[in-house]
Amino acid sequence: MDAQEAWSKIAGNAILKRAIEISLLGEHMVTVTGHPDNGFMYAREILGGRVYSLPECPCGNFGDLTNTCNCRTREIQRYRNDMYQLEVMTKAEIFVETQTPRWSDYERSWESFGQVMRRIKLANYPESMKICSNGQVLIDKAIQAFGLRMRQVHNVLSVAHTISALACAESIAVEHVAEAIQYQRPWGNF
Ligand SMILES: [Zn+2]
Repeated sequence: MDAQEAWSKIAGNAILKRAIEISLLGEHMVTVTGHPDNGFMYAREILGGRVYSLPECPCGNFGDLTNTCNCRTREIQRYRNDMYQLEVMTKAEIFVETQTPRWSDYERSWESFGQVMRRIKLANYPESMKICSNGQVLIDKAIQAFGLRMRQVHNVLSVAHTISALACAESIAVEHVAEAIQYQRPWGNF
């Protein structure tokens, strides 16, 4: 299976597709939560070692709206304390949750991998970019609301830089910052 085929097999999950695109341009590490069969394996085919699987429990179904998690609380706690999980958390710059897709997700037509690669080739990627004042205000709000730590703020800036490059923008705009913040995971169960 090549990258093009892997891309075509991802059903639904626009956020996973977007994360793959951002990572292809900016070489960001991506961590995918949820069961590995719900997109991670295909993302791996495209991004190689730049993507990790991080199911939220031993069975992988925790948080899934279709499949039920039967893990015990103690098993989940032990699993989440595992060093491997901590290592993945330390490396990740982008977090994406995956769900079991519905049939309607398979029926929808999506952008082809070729279209995505064309956009990446056209991207303007300067070494440094200015962040607009509204973007700075938004980061400050996120720090206060979610307790973003130093590494997470750096992730937001780095990923927002790539997003604005994909948009061929001249500076990092507030919407680029907003999108980058949604890929962070300072809250939750880890
Ligand atoms: Zn489970």
